[in-house]
Amino acid sequence: MSPRRHPVRYTLWLARTGSAPRTFSLPAWVPLAVVVLLLGWSGLNLWLWQRTAEMRHLQLQLLRLSEQARSLNNQLALERERNNALSQDAQSLFKQLQVLEQEINTLRERAGMPKIKLVPTRSPAPDRAKERGAVPEPAGGAGTASLENALEYAGQQIEALSQKLSEVSPALQETLRREAAMPYGYPIRGLARITSHFGYRRNPFGWGFEFHNGIDFSAAYGTPVRVTGAGVVVEAGWKGPYGLAVVVDHGYGYRTLYGHLSSISVRVGQRLERGARVGTVGSTGRSTGPHLHYTVFRRGSEVNPLGYLD
Ligand SMILES: [Zn+2]
Repeated sequence: MSPRRHPVRYTLWLARTGSAPRTFSLPAWVPLAVVVLLLGWSGLNLWLWQRTAEMRHLQLQLLRLSEQARSLNNQLALERERNNALSQDAQSLFKQLQVLEQEINTLRERAGMPKIKLVPTRSPAPDRAKERGAVPEPAGGAGTASLENALEYAGQQIEALSQKLSEVSPALQETLRREAAMPYGYPIRGLARITSHFGYRRNPFGWGFEFHNGIDFSAAYGTPVRVTGAGVVVEAGWKGPYGLAVVVDHGYGYRTLYGHLSSISVRVGQRLERGARVGTVGSTGRSTGPHLHYTVFRRGSEVNPLGYLD
């Protein structure tokens, strides 16, 4: 039997100055445990301190990054706003082009020319981008490119349209000249009752029928008689059965005659605009009472003036 070994123990002396010391008997593991605890506690503290420093550093970085993000976002918003304003400009330009084309077409129609179709009904830029399969990019990317396309396109359209406009101008002037010259409307203003139409009628002076080559308007003696289209006076004076009469040449194959006048206020060779006074209603020549005889000639033959009244 081996001698029983006593376990190692330490004695801790604690002495207050001037009094008897106190002793504590401690097992051997206690000082070791104290040392290990102390080391562990300071290690934990060091680790925690490091972590805190790291966290603070990360927080600062995060703050800086979020500030950068905010400023970028602001820039982006500004850019987008600017882009929107520009594309709105492009859109309004495009609408103006459409209006311009419509107006040119109205003029062309009046001038008897075929319509043109240069400006598409929808803005070309976004559609073209879609066809190319372009992926929408953040502001400043595809937006600017299609905007430039739209503006370039608008410039081309303006050129083409202004060329069409310069084409239409002479044709339109010719149309307006012809329209101003062609007999149109009544030779008497106000109340003008038709008393005899164009065509065969009973002879007002005798037996049988006769051909009446114009329209008779009943009107008071002295009522002003007005030319129904712009033209030049080719006859002004006595003209057989028409009595005092005026004949106006309108060009384009048209002439008009105003008969049975009581007075004539124009002379041969005079240029007249539509509505100018040529004389006054009377009953000169082969006439039974004050009235105006109105004849329209087209390429030398008498035509029914009814079709030229309105
Ligand atoms: Zn007549």
